[in-house]
Amino acid sequence: MFSIVAAYTTQTQVDRAQRSETVAESYAGALSALNAEETVELEYLLDPISDNIGRLEEAGRVLTDAVNEIAVQGGREDAVLAKDILALHAQRLVANERLAGASAAGDRTEAERIHENESQPLFLAMKSRLTVATEERQADSQSALAGLETTARWILILSPIVFAIGFALLIVLWLILERYRRATRETYRKIEQLSRLRGEFVSIVSHEFRTPLTGVQGFSELMRDEELTIPEMREYASDINKDARRLSSLISDMLDLDLMESGRMTLRFAPVDLNRIVMNAAAQSSSSAAAHPIELHLSEGLPEVNGESERLTQVVTNLLSNAMKYSPSGGGIELETTGDGRMVTLTVRDHGIGIPATHLEKIFDRYSQIEATETASIKGVGLGLAIVYQIVRLHHGKVWATSDVGEGSAFHVQLPVMESATFAARAEQPGSRVRRA
Ligand code: ADP
Repeated sequence: MFSIVAAYTTQTQVDRAQRSETVAESYAGALSALNAEETVELEYLLDPISDNIGRLEEAGRVLTDAVNEIAVQGGREDAVLAKDILALHAQRLVANERLAGASAAGDRTEAERIHENESQPLFLAMKSRLTVATEERQADSQSALAGLETTARWILILSPIVFAIGFALLIVLWLILERYRRATRETYRKIEQLSRLRGEFVSIVSHEFRTPLTGVQGFSELMRDEELTIPEMREYASDINKDARRLSSLISDMLDLDLMESGRMTLRFAPVDLNRIVMNAAAQSSSSAAAHPIELHLSEGLPEVNGESERLTQVVTNLLSNAMKYSPSGGGIELETTGDGRMVTLTVRDHGIGIPATHLEKIFDRYSQIEATETASIKGVGLGLAIVYQIVRLHHGKVWATSDVGEGSAFHVQLPVMESATFAARAEQPGSRVRRA
């Protein structure tokens, strides 16, 4: 754009400068033709021989041509001026003829009168008009040249700046394109990952659904086709109930996770005592897990957190049930809470199979399960930790795991304390409370 404007402006100014110069030259030519005619005329008046008459006529023709050139090269104003000069010149020729006649008749007084009063004033009038106009046109020509010079200087100054701006824009454009390309690649990667997850999801979920459904089907067929005693009936009904509950919790987990991941889950926040939640969760599970004695190390005076009690219970329950599930040979489980003025931390520690370091990050992804011989016989869908992660995220906290394969794992959940909680006032006592659930 800049180069088009610059080229157009320069071309226009070059044209103008050239035109002004040609016009100025045509004026200068007319002026010198007028002076030449005046010289020849004086020679003729001093010596009116036929040779001088011829030269005078020739000088007159040269002057007429030069004045016509002004009309040709110049504009309308110049054409008017040329016409005026030619008219004055014609009057002067008439006066000069009479002057030549008087001279030839030997009437010197009349000849001098004509020269003084008619011919000379006409010459001076022509000369003065031509001189003024010549100066004007020369000034025009110089101003056109000066304009051209200014434009050229600006172009010289602006060119590198415009080039630099253009180059910078090009780089910015390239960066934007590169970002879009990266974003597109990332989107493709995510789509691929999603489609892979979808596949895995279908296979895991259909397997997880099929197991309880097979149970329901089998037990209900038995109840329908066999002659059963009441206690047998009760036993099968209880098995069917267990399978139905398993199915229901699976569906709830999937729906919950979906709501949380898409940001559509709203939590009812209230002050929550994490110690109470941990104690309740431990009490509920200890009855069903004698092989996994639970130890509680609860910090006294733990500040309250701002959260939803049910969801935080789900966090503790999921971590606790994993700790038991992934300790197939049994082993104690420790639940510990600690806190400072800003954060409270819950740690669930087991002495089970552990998690390889390369999997520590991935286990919080949905449907992620570690494929190993130790875990092959353990049932799971890969939703528990994904739900824990989402709940903790919604509470503005963080969760992570540490582990040694074969030694056990520890899951840490850190949550911000309620703004109003004044931990300093209820500072942690030296030595935390140790309870056995
Ligand atoms: P699930 O237990 O249903 O497979 P989770 O999301 O709860 O799904 O856990 C994901 C994976 O993380 C599990 O499959 C398991 O491999 C690993 N994992 C979770 N908790 C523990 C633990 N306490 N010890 C060892 N591995 C664990």
